[in-house]
Amino acid sequence: MIERARLTWHCFNLVQEVLAEQPEQVRDQLVDVALTIKVEPDAQDFARGATEGMRGYFWGTQPSVDQGGDGSGVCCPEGDALPRQLGEEGPNEIVLFAGNIRPLTRENVAVVLMHEVGHLCGFDEFELEALGLCG
Ligand SMILES: [Zn+2]
Repeated sequence: MIERARLTWHCFNLVQEVLAEQPEQVRDQLVDVALTIKVEPDAQDFARGATEGMRGYFWGTQPSVDQGGDGSGVCCPEGDALPRQLGEEGPNEIVLFAGNIRPLTRENVAVVLMHEVGHLCGFDEFELEALGLCG
């Protein structure tokens, strides 16, 4: 249990470092977004469509989700954009799985976090891959 708490805390610190390095425009995107750090997906995440081994996902409403497909089928180790289902409520959320980001370094946290921020901004897997934010 202590190990799990340490993993989550370490990831949280890395997220803080990564965010501190981002330009204000990027941090502004995250003002109303919940950022959750877990060790691995739990029942709620699986219900939203998360998969085993996923490093993170964006959950919520993308601004331009119907421009250029959803990118499903692209093999990307980062998480997907999981659309909010009818009846589900809550703020847009980025969930990171500290136990699946290996090794848990600032560089790897940055790729996963910025990948999910990209989904938040409406990018699909193809566009994120082009930006170097896939694996
Ligand atoms: Zn993705």
